Amino acid sequence: MLVVDNIHTHYGKIEALHGVSVEVNKGEIVSLIGANGAGKTTLLMSVCGNPQASSGRILLEGRDITTAPTAEIMRSGIAIVPEGRRVFPGLTVEENLHMGGFFNTKSEIQKSLEHVYELFPRLKEREHQRAGTMSGGEQQMLAIGRALMSRPRMIILDEPSLGLAPIIIAQIFEIIGQLRDEGITVFLVEQNAHQALSLADRGYVLETGRIRLHDTGKNLLANPEIREAYLGG
Ligand code: ATP
Repeated sequence: MLVVDNIHTHYGKIEALHGVSVEVNKGEIVSLIGANGAGKTTLLMSVCGNPQASSGRILLEGRDITTAPTAEIMRSGIAIVPEGRRVFPGLTVEENLHMGGFFNTKSEIQKSLEHVYELFPRLKEREHQRAGTMSGGEQQMLAIGRALMSRPRMIILDEPSLGLAPIIIAQIFEIIGQLRDEGITVFLVEQNAHQALSLADRGYVLETGRIRLHDTGKNLLANPEIREAYLGG
């Protein structure tokens, strides 16, 4: 579904990714873990074309999107839930969801809304509430719901558990599992390595701009080096 092949990405003269390769197959959950500053967000944003990779290739369903404009990539079946959620605080829940269906027809938007409200009954209860007044967990649900409005075949989530209480994190991860069960391919970036690897079919470990290891989620969880570095021993 997604092939990242040996990409290098720069911020000005500084190289943040030094030849990174990742594959996400259709129907999988793939987790990318790594410490602060490893380059996780940079990798996701390179897939979205902002910043673009300076060399290497990125293929989405076989199509080369390495230098495609971000707006075009966002229309080709991929949706991103950015780090920090970034909902529109002054808009209501329903207005935020409508923003996610921007490129769709009215009847598609209606169907997507029903689907999102089924997944997140809490959002339906709060459809007229301003997003900025919702809790962190509710805003994360809204950010995921907004991404689903474009009916993506693949969803990319950047640290969805950041700053949330354990019980809310468990709910969010359960929903991510449900998305995979519905046939949506998931690429998940997390510092919460234990939960991300438990849920993942496969995982990658990014260290200072390079992939250090990749394996099944199960094997990475059992790997002594990973346990020591990312799972608290
Ligand atoms: P975190 O978990 O803290 O979000 P991360 O793994 O997502 O970290 P990135 O945000 O991708 O890491 O950062 C990778 C490297 O690129 C860091 O050294 C960072 O300082 C640098 N970097 C990120 N964004 C920019 C930018 N806009 N301009 C310059 N350097 C940047």
